[in-house]
Amino acid sequence: MTLDSRKVSTETWLVAGGRPVASGAPLNHPIVPVSTFEHGTERTYSRSDSTETCEALEKVLGGLEGANALAFASGMAAAAAVFDQVEAQSEVVIPDDCYQGVAQIAADGEAKGLWTVTRLDVGDTESWIAARSRARLVWVESPTNPLLKIADLVAIAAAPREPNGLLVVDNTFATSLNQLPLDIGAEISMQSSTKFVGGHSDLLGGVLATRDDELLGQLRKSRSLLGSFPGALETFLTLRGVRTMKLRLERSQANAEVLAERLAAHPAVGVTRYPGLRSHPGHELAASQLSGNGSMISFDLASAEAGDQACARLGLIRHATSLGGIESSMERRALTVGQEHLPPGLLRLSVGCEDVEDLWADLSQAIA
Ligand SMILES: *Cc1c(COP(=O)(O)O)cnc(C)c1O
Repeated sequence: MTLDSRKVSTETWLVAGGRPVASGAPLNHPIVPVSTFEHGTERTYSRSDSTETCEALEKVLGGLEGANALAFASGMAAAAAVFDQVEAQSEVVIPDDCYQGVAQIAADGEAKGLWTVTRLDVGDTESWIAARSRARLVWVESPTNPLLKIADLVAIAAAPREPNGLLVVDNTFATSLNQLPLDIGAEISMQSSTKFVGGHSDLLGGVLATRDDELLGQLRKSRSLLGSFPGALETFLTLRGVRTMKLRLERSQANAEVLAERLAAHPAVGVTRYPGLRSHPGHELAASQLSGNGSMISFDLASAEAGDQACARLGLIRHATSLGGIESSMERRALTVGQEHLPPGLLRLSVGCEDVEDLWADLSQAIA
C-alpha cells in the first residue's frame, strides 16, 4: 500500500513517505551514482531525467506542501532556476533585508540590463501589494534573514497579480513545517535544504514546490539546462535528514523560545529579535501566519568588538556561518559581504538540539 501525504499527519509522512514498497525492497532508496541509463525506459541521463532516490525526496518534500517539488544542488541553484523564468525588461521585487546571494542574482541581472529591481521593506505591505500587480517576480522572505521581519504574506498573496506574476516565498527560516506558502497563495515555495531540511551541516541542497504543472515543467527544464541536479550522496543524505526534520525542529524551536526570553532579559543585550517574543514588531502577524516561531534568533551586543569577543569565547556553540543544523552556531552578521548595513554588534544564533541549559551556560559566559 502506498501512503498518501494528505491522509496521514506530517510526522508520519516525514518518517514513512516515499519509501520503496515492493516486496523484498530495502526500506531506504539507495545512493544512485549515475549519469546515464541503459536505453529502453524514460530515463536516459540523470541531469534531465532524475533518479528514483531524488524522486522519493521530491515526493516527501512536495507532500509537505500539497504540491510537486523539485530538488536542486543548492538553495542558490533553486533560486537561479526561478530567476531563469524572468523575461527581459520585467520587474523583480526583493526584500531590502534579503538573503545576500539572492540579492546578488537580482543586482547582477539589473546591472546587465535584464530586469529592474525594486527593494522593499517586508513590513511595508501596501508597497508589496502594489508590486504584485506590476512585477513578474515577487521574491519575499518571511521571517527575513537576519532581522526576522515578518511579511503579511496573506495580504500580498491575495493582491491582484501581474498576469504571469510569480510570488515566491523563501521559506528557509520557517520551513514547510511552520509555514505553507502555497496554501497562502504563493506560486512557488523555496527552501535551502542545506539548512533545516538536511539539518546536519553536511550537504548543500535546495527545493522548489509548486502546484502549477506548467511552471513545474519550466523549472525542471531550467534545472537540466543550468546543470543543477543534486548529487547522488546529497540526495540520499537530504532524504535521511528529512526523516527527523520534525523532531529536530520541535526541539530546536523549544530551545530557541527559552534562549530568546533569557537574551531579551540580559543586561548586555540590546534588541533581541525572535518572532515568539511579545516585544517583536511582527509578533502578532507571526502568530497568525506561522505554526511555530522557528529556531533563529538575532540579538545585538553593544559593538562589533563585543560581538567578536562573544563569538571567540564560545565553547559549545560553533562559531560558524549557516544555520539549521542539529548543532547550534552563531556569527556576527555584519562581517558577511553585503551585510555591512546591519547593526555592527548583531549576532545571529541558529539554535540546535543540544540541552538548553548547556546552551545557555555557553551563551551567557560568552556575552558576559
Ligand atoms: C542559505 C540560504 C539560501 C541559499 O541556499 P544555499 O543552499 O546556501 O545555496 C537562500 N535563502 C536563505 C534564507 C538561506 O538561508
